[in-house]
Amino acid sequence: SIYGDYIKSVIRTVPDWPQPGVNFRDITPVLQNRSAFRKLIDSFVHRYQDSELDAIAAIDARGFIIGAPVAYELGCSFVPVRKKGKLPFKTISETYTLEYGESAVELHSDAFRANDRILVMDDLIATGGTMLAAAKLIQRSGGQVVETATIIDLPELGGSQKIQEAGHGVFAVCT
Ligand code: 5GP
Repeated sequence: SIYGDYIKSVIRTVPDWPQPGVNFRDITPVLQNRSAFRKLIDSFVHRYQDSELDAIAAIDARGFIIGAPVAYELGCSFVPVRKKGKLPFKTISETYTLEYGESAVELHSDAFRANDRILVMDDLIATGGTMLAAAKLIQRSGGQVVETATIIDLPELGGSQKIQEAGHGVFAVCT
């Protein structure tokens, strides 16, 4: 993407967090740097400005940080995809497996109209489980998944490939 190399240079890798052996990709230095933050948001705006999106569905919690300003700038609506138990109204839920155990994401049952054009956003794709569960929720609720978008793809973990095999495009600002 246009600013990919620059954004990548600002992302911080924190070794052994949250567990020994994990290299956590920390996006907070991008958010703290006004120029990097603007370029990050502009990367998504540039890609989707002619996509006629109805809504951005962003994943709890770091997806919200990028999803809301992109939705505002594109003039589309914003829908939170939340971790289990956080949404107050009627929800639909999608369970997915983690390395240890399982997790679930939820969406309000009235979040979209049938055939709405939806972009799904999160900060990072690792195994792809979270993004894929969110995309399934959107399809189950009658929305069209236009694409999935992330700041960082970790392709060696196979997540973006899995998402593509499920029929969705993947846009990553950097890999
Ligand atoms: P996946 O479901 O693709 O295995 O994991 C992606 C989810 O875990 C995303 O919601 C993302 O926020 C979080 N995640 C996993 N590893 C990292 C990481 O190194 N950095 C960040 N920022 N998020 C991560």
